[in-house]
Amino acid sequence: MTFPPLDQLVPEYVRRFEAYIPSKPDEELRRLYGCDRLLRLNNNENPLGPPPEAQEIIRRFPPPRAAVYPSGDAYYLREKLAEKFGLQPDQFIVGNGANEVITFVIKAFCQEGDNIVTADKTFAVYEWVAEFSGFEARLVPLRDFGFDDEGLLERIDERTKIVFVCNPNNPTGTYWNEGRLRRFLDRIDGRRIVVLDEAYCEFVEKKDFPDGIRLLRDYPNLVVFRTFSKMYALAGLRIGYLAGDLEVVNVIRRTGVVYSVNVLAQEAALAALNDDEHIRRTRALVGAGKAFLSRELDRLGLPYICGEGNFVMIRLPLSDTLAYRKLMARGVMVRTMTGFRFPNYIRVTISAREALEALVRALEEILKDRGQRTEIRDQKSEDGGQRTEGCHPGG
Ligand SMILES: *Cc1c(COP(=O)(O)O)cnc(C)c1O
Repeated sequence: MTFPPLDQLVPEYVRRFEAYIPSKPDEELRRLYGCDRLLRLNNNENPLGPPPEAQEIIRRFPPPRAAVYPSGDAYYLREKLAEKFGLQPDQFIVGNGANEVITFVIKAFCQEGDNIVTADKTFAVYEWVAEFSGFEARLVPLRDFGFDDEGLLERIDERTKIVFVCNPNNPTGTYWNEGRLRRFLDRIDGRRIVVLDEAYCEFVEKKDFPDGIRLLRDYPNLVVFRTFSKMYALAGLRIGYLAGDLEVVNVIRRTGVVYSVNVLAQEAALAALNDDEHIRRTRALVGAGKAFLSRELDRLGLPYICGEGNFVMIRLPLSDTLAYRKLMARGVMVRTMTGFRFPNYIRVTISAREALEALVRALEEILKDRGQRTEIRDQKSEDGGQRTEGCHPGG
C-alpha cells in the first residue's frame, strides 16, 4: 500500500503551519524537572477554584447523566445570560471555551483571499486559526504595550473581514477605555466585524473600562467574547461564549458544531454566573498579589508590566526559555513569552500569596546564581551560552 502523498493532500497553508505543543501533564513535568510540587503560574487560572455553587453542581453530578447528550445549544445557560445582560438568548453562542467561538467567527466571515487584523503581541489563537485556515493574519505592532488603533486602521483593506481587539490585552494588561473604543468603532463605521475579546473583563475595576455587551446596541458589527475559564475558574470544563447582534449571531451560528459543550460545563457555568461574591474575593486576592509582587520585583530590580487582568509580565536578564527551566527545577511553572514575541519576558499568573512567595524566592536564586556564573565565565572567557528549546505561545 502506498503512503498517502501528504505533499499533495495537505494544503500549503497547513503544511506551513507549526502545531502547538501543549505542556506535559503536571506529574510528567515533576518527574522531568525533579521537583515534588509544581505551582502553576502559567495559564492565568484562578487559585480560588470555581464559585461554591458551581463546585456543588460538579460534586453532585449524577454519573448516569453522562450517557445523555447535553443541550445542543446551551439552552438554559443562554437564557440566563440573556436575563443577566438584557439581551435575547439567541444573541449568544456558547462554545467549548472561547477558543472554539474564535473558529466559528473566522469560518463565518472569511473566504479565500480574506484577512484578519490584530496585534502582533496578543492572544495567539486568532492568528493561528486564521493561518491554518488559509487566511492572512495581519499583525500590527503594539504601541506602548497596547493595541494601536491607528496602526490597526491602516492595515485594514477591502479584504479585511474581522479585527480582533483583546481588552484588556493578554499578555500586557493594557486596555482601551470606552471613549477610545467608541472612536475606533465609529471609524470602522460598521464595515467590518470587530471582535472584542473580554476574557479578563471581570478582573477590571477601572471606571472607564468599557462593557462590550452594553455597546452592542450602538455597534451591531461588534462581537464580544467571554469565558468561564479565568474569573469563574472552569478552565478544565472548557466553556466560553460570544454575544452579538441577533442577525450577526444567526450567521455565526451556521459554522458552529452543536453538542460541543458538555452538560457539566453548562450547569456549572449557570451556577457560577450567580456569584458576585466570588468575583469580589478573586479581585481582592489579585489586588493583594499584585501589590506584593510589585514590591518584591522592585526590590529585585526586575522590570515588569502590571496592568489589568490576573497576570504580570516580567523582564529577565536571561532568556525566558532558560529561566523557564530554572524555575521549573524549583517547582514554579510560568509562561515563556518568546512565542508571544516578547523574548526575555515571562508571564506570571497572580495566584495565592504562598505561590507568589515561592516565585520570588526562585527568581532571587536564579539571579544570584547567574551573577556568580557570569563572574566565572568572565574569568575563563568561556562561552556559557546555553541552547534554548523551542517554546510555544498560548493562553
Ligand atoms: C484564556 C483566554 C481565552 C480563551 O479561553 P477559553 O479557555 O478557551 O475559554 C480567550 N482569550 C484570551 C485573551 C484568553 O486569555
